[in-house]
Amino acid sequence: MLMKICVAGSGYVGLVAGACFADSGNTVIGFDIDKHKISSLNNGKVPIFEPGLEEIVQKNLEAKRLSFTTDPAEAIPNSDLFLLAVGTPQGSQGEANLSYLLNAVDTFGKWINKDCIILVKSTVPVGTADRISQMVGQLKYFCPVVSNPEFLKEGTAIHDFLKPERVILGSTSSKAISIVSELYSPFVRSGNPILVMSNRSAELAKYAANSFLAMRVSFINEIALLSERFGADIEEVRKALTTDSRIGNRFLYPGCGYGGSCFPKDVQALIRMGHEQGLEMPLFHATHNINERQKLSLFEKMKHHYQNMNGKKVALWGLSFKPLTNDIREAPSVALITQLLKAGATVRGYDPAANAEIRHHFGDRVQLYDESYSMLDGADGLAILTEWNEFRTPDFSRIKSSMSQPTLFDGRNLFDPIQMRELGFDYFAIGRGKR
Ligand code: NAD
Repeated sequence: MLMKICVAGSGYVGLVAGACFADSGNTVIGFDIDKHKISSLNNGKVPIFEPGLEEIVQKNLEAKRLSFTTDPAEAIPNSDLFLLAVGTPQGSQGEANLSYLLNAVDTFGKWINKDCIILVKSTVPVGTADRISQMVGQLKYFCPVVSNPEFLKEGTAIHDFLKPERVILGSTSSKAISIVSELYSPFVRSGNPILVMSNRSAELAKYAANSFLAMRVSFINEIALLSERFGADIEEVRKALTTDSRIGNRFLYPGCGYGGSCFPKDVQALIRMGHEQGLEMPLFHATHNINERQKLSLFEKMKHHYQNMNGKKVALWGLSFKPLTNDIREAPSVALITQLLKAGATVRGYDPAANAEIRHHFGDRVQLYDESYSMLDGADGLAILTEWNEFRTPDFSRIKSSMSQPTLFDGRNLFDPIQMRELGFDYFAIGRGKR
């Protein structure tokens, strides 16, 4: 059964979900409060960098299965499904800020004119679906709430959405579960399961998954620190770990910390949920604290190497929190740049997708370049923060001849320390021998 879907929130999640549901034949209207975003989307321009997204948006705009509006009167009436994909950013006490979500539910309540399923894709604290159910319980229409946490990854979002490893649906309404299962049927043909559970389990599962992955990253970073102090090589230790099938090899890469719009805030929100239940959450506190320290690991190495950072010219490659996105929310680059500027260093930066976001954040305090080599002229140090493919096989002789001192701080362990030293670099990586 094809549906008329209103997607509230046209960010990473709402755009991808809306475009993919339109692509499978549904009629989708993206509703957002950001006029700028909506007018650019209606012109086929996607304001975020996400491989493949613009093509699928344009294709479905042309086919008239997808449109965008800021007008609730156009977006909400006659919808079969209202998909919540608005932001749930971190509040001042670490909690998820639900004000955008509750506003959207409020707007929904004012405009809906028929029975309609509410699908919650935003990451929300346990109990939020019950809260939404209460809010819409006063309406004269049947509006069951299905918790449907999203697991897409920025950079591979379209692929992740079209081929999900699993779809989680939490609801008390079996009718709603069966309708939403049918909506997902084109994407789960590969045999991957739809897991049906309670709203509360579905809500908790999302936080548990993100916090588990964040914990793995902090785990390997803590071992990397020990590795560095003892003169061991974390890459050798990592191989020993990842060849153990009980441990597996995903999310065990040492680096300069995790960032993005999900792991940091979701770990914090889980801590907060525990506190509200009178529980200490030592594992998640440690996950967070290790990461905060790790984001400054390259700065510590620089301070140790140069002694005084004042006036040093530092070039940064990779500013987004990970490759294939322009997202800099909680990115290690932001923490490092802040410290470098405080210490009086001159900061030059280049990112294949996120220069505009860094300019927006730091103004002209960071000199931004549109390619990676000219920024190295006379630089005292080069730091790599994001493992974009173009940084993996650079022209080392060009780097060396451009810089005033060939000094490389590798926040993603892209190169072999022995080779780098043979090439004449002062080379500092994460957890690879004494610093
Ligand atoms: P985003 O910040 O990119 O987009 C959110 C959008 O919601 C914005 O365009 C904003 O203008 C809009 N909005 C705010 N209030 C609104 C309202 N009342 N009505 C309509 N639109 C409104 O956020 P995102 O990264 O897409 O994340 C959305 C949710 O999905 C969050 O809860 C997030 O934790 C979760 N999530 C994100 C990812 C990811 O990789 N980004 C992955 C899985 C889950």
